[in-house]
Amino acid sequence: MSLKDLFLQHTAQTSDHPVGIEVAKAEGVYLYDTNGKRYIDLIAGIAVSNVGHRHPEVVAAIKNQVDHYMHVMAYGEYVQQPTILLAKALADALPQHLNTSYFVNSGTEANEGALKLAKRHTGRTQLIACKNSYHGSTHGSLSVTGNETKKHAFRPLLPDIRFIEFNREEDIQHITEKTAAVIIEPVQGDAGVRIPSLSYMQQLRAQCTATGTLLIFDEVQTGFGRTGSLFAFEQFGITPDVLTLAKGMGAGLPIGAFIASHEIMTSLKHAPMLGHITTFGGNPVCCAAALANLKILQGGLLKDVHTKGALFKTLLQHPEIREVRGIGLMLAVEFDSFETVHKIFHECLKNGVVAFWFLSCNNSFRIAPPLTISEDEIREACDIILQSIDNVC
Ligand code: PLP
Repeated sequence: MSLKDLFLQHTAQTSDHPVGIEVAKAEGVYLYDTNGKRYIDLIAGIAVSNVGHRHPEVVAAIKNQVDHYMHVMAYGEYVQQPTILLAKALADALPQHLNTSYFVNSGTEANEGALKLAKRHTGRTQLIACKNSYHGSTHGSLSVTGNETKKHAFRPLLPDIRFIEFNREEDIQHITEKTAAVIIEPVQGDAGVRIPSLSYMQQLRAQCTATGTLLIFDEVQTGFGRTGSLFAFEQFGITPDVLTLAKGMGAGLPIGAFIASHEIMTSLKHAPMLGHITTFGGNPVCCAAALANLKILQGGLLKDVHTKGALFKTLLQHPEIREVRGIGLMLAVEFDSFETVHKIFHECLKNGVVAFWFLSCNNSFRIAPPLTISEDEIREACDIILQSIDNVC
């Protein structure tokens, strides 16, 4: 049986149409399959490999940590240097009140923790989220996800959740003294890269402050340089009460975090004690990778992200392309229909460029390459995309 047949037979499938590249190697912005074919990776494991695949400093940090110790204890019990250094580095990189990190293993877990924290800290139950949002696939995060198609088969989900329209100022008034938290992506990712106005974001912050509601920014997709700043909220001149991270955090190893002030975070340690626990959260190998990743991002990599995003927008001009939306290197290329996107996606794949779909925007494909992508690589990728459009449209 071929490896692909084994994949189809023995690993649980998430759809009838997996992309199915048989990966042999990944390096920088390139993927190589087992036939030696090279792909320009415009998706980076879905906004994960922001510093490129197998960045040498990340690989060295992982190897060094593996030589000392790997998992030794469940989260929160032992003093493990990589975990602590990462927490300190994040606190130094963030506004002063975001000084305490709770490490988990994925984006959905980061949001689960943040929602529990908000309920526990405020003593309230209502959660407000946005239509078309995506916050993860576990029950709590799915409950605040604003995509009914993905949810209805799993009801009942969490009660006391209200959905407001993303980026509609009138809806902000629904946030009241009853609301424990508002969870929002500062740039909606899976809705097809939707950027809110500055004024909306500032009013949202003001209403949360006025009502004692915790503002949770889900930066699982936008974090770690994707939008051109280390975190997207920096571009809106406001800060959240709780920040959730994952994806690009570990440069290819699984790690996430929810981050808040020491005072807020303290509510998870009593009544009940162990209010949130995880075996693998804060894994030292993942934390060592994440620390190396953060240092690379802080070492000047972000300065060209906006320019590179603008180059994609300039080059991707074609009568079939309706719009290229985005911020930094988080982009959506819009066509007239899902059918057109489907044809182009597969033609690009055939011609050596990998892009991907969105969960809640089927007439667009996403571009989220490693931030290390060079101008020449962007030009080559865009040439292939334009040629692919000509071939199939
Ligand atoms: N939040 C956002 C904004 C995301 O884009 C995603 C994943 O796409 C998640 C949460 C869930 O992250 P994970 O797949 O690591 O659970």
